[in-house]
Amino acid sequence: EINGLRKEYVDHYTGETIPAIGEVTFSIGEGEFVSVLGPSGCGKTTVLNIVAGFIDHTAGDVLVHGRSVHGPGPDRGVVFQSHALFPWKTVLGNVTFGLRMKGVSRAQREVAAADILELVGLSGFERKYPHELSGGMQQRLGLARVLVNEPEVMLMDEPFASIDAQTRRKLQQDLTEIFEKRRPTVFFVTHDIDEAVFLSDRVVLLSHRPSTVAEIIDIELPRP
Ligand code: ADP
Ligand code: ADP
Repeated sequence: EINGLRKEYVDHYTGETIPAIGEVTFSIGEGEFVSVLGPSGCGKTTVLNIVAGFIDHTAGDVLVHGRSVHGPGPDRGVVFQSHALFPWKTVLGNVTFGLRMKGVSRAQREVAAADILELVGLSGFERKYPHELSGGMQQRLGLARVLVNEPEVMLMDEPFASIDAQTRRKLQQDLTEIFEKRRPTVFFVTHDIDEAVFLSDRVVLLSHRPSTVAEIIDIELPRP
């Protein structure tokens, strides 16, 4: 739930206040896929970063399962446009790293990793390194790394923006299938109208900065 969210950045040189989010209110139901759509610079990433707990907001509330957000937490998994992979770790190493940090046993880590790699279509690539994978596959790995931790909420910031159009289409289709099997609550940021309509249950349209919610659109189209 995002209630009356406002954000002002402060310019460190001039001390000037930069209004980024004027007033944003919307909520995402459990298991719902909601996209936030708007032109570049309208404040989409700012909203996502606040929900992720990476930056503070100026006013309003952000609640996840009724709990106020203060900083990042394991209930929220974040997927960025860049993959944020460990280049010196294999595919398997990248996927199991978070579980190892949590003290999950090796046997359990490997079962969870096999499941998730199957789900994202990377079975058989366990021993490869990220640089040996195509951009599309690296993004699948980035997704696997987050999904394996079973976050309740997935925050995705233009995850396919730097991927060629054809691969992007395939990843969008595969993402709907992946999320049919695991149903996290999804907050997806994009400036691509087709992508938002294709993936989402609802689209929150932001007006430009300082942003406000211009419209909330229910997508009624049957999904493939
Ligand atoms: P979007 O994701 O929609 O492209 P952003 O959330 O990245 O938009 O940015 C919203 C506005 O806030 C932009 O005008 C940007 O210039 C400004 N902004 C973003 N981050 C900062 C920052 N750290 N300091 C000052 N202004 C910022
Ligand atoms: P997608 O992400 O939709 O699978 P990609 O362009 O990333 O599309 O890859 C297409 C296919 O090419 C992959 O499914 C995989 O089978 C193969 N491929 C890509 N990169 C490699 C690689 N480094 N080693 C082996 N096979 C690869």
